[in-house]
Amino acid sequence: MAPSHSLADKTMCGHLYIVTAPSGAGKTTLVRHLLANDPGIRVSVSHTTRAPRAGERDGFEYHFIGVQDFLDKIANNDFLEWAQVHGNYYGTSASGIEVALQAGQDVLLEIDWQGAQQVRRQFPAASGIFIVPPSIDELGRRLRERATDSDETIARRVAAAREEMRHVDEFDYVIINDDLQRALHDLLAVVRATRLRCPAQRQRHSILFATML
Ligand code: 5GP
Repeated sequence: MAPSHSLADKTMCGHLYIVTAPSGAGKTTLVRHLLANDPGIRVSVSHTTRAPRAGERDGFEYHFIGVQDFLDKIANNDFLEWAQVHGNYYGTSASGIEVALQAGQDVLLEIDWQGAQQVRRQFPAASGIFIVPPSIDELGRRLRERATDSDETIARRVAAAREEMRHVDEFDYVIINDDLQRALHDLLAVVRATRLRCPAQRQRHSILFATML
């Protein structure tokens, strides 16, 4: 399913984060707070064939496109990854990510486990972060509270959450979202620690190291 892009071969300055969670785990809220706290990260806006929910705007939460347009983009190898999730197509456009990473910007992808697997194959250095809800009951409650999906959709998403949870071991970091502030601090800690990794620091402070080594 994953197209083969040449991105991984190029020298990237920014870091790629993959954030995955069952629907209703609070991923989007958490990511929104992360972006507000850290201007160095930009989130990739995915394409989807799902209908917009109330309040969602084209080009902001998603690029909303038709199935044929999505299939054309697959055929054109436009996606870094794509998957069918809950009966709709979702995909990450490759072009914006390449530009951002090469410009030294960190990029965050909010994608499901199938997309995460595809991206990890192309970017082994990407950091995978899995957000876990405090319980399945709480997950169902949050989905109902959102009141944007039908009962049938909610039931399907709760069932899918169990399936998604089975992939938790494929991720580097796990954050339990039982308290938004604590979960946000955990996420900020992951980003901060990633920026302190030796290769990133060597690149960022190359002049300093040149004077000392
Ligand atoms: P929602 O419809 O609730 O916004 O998203 C449903 C699921 O699709 C979530 O698990 C979300 O992470 C996933 N998703 C959103 N965008 C993408 C994408 O570009 N690629 C993949 N593989 N999954 C995505």
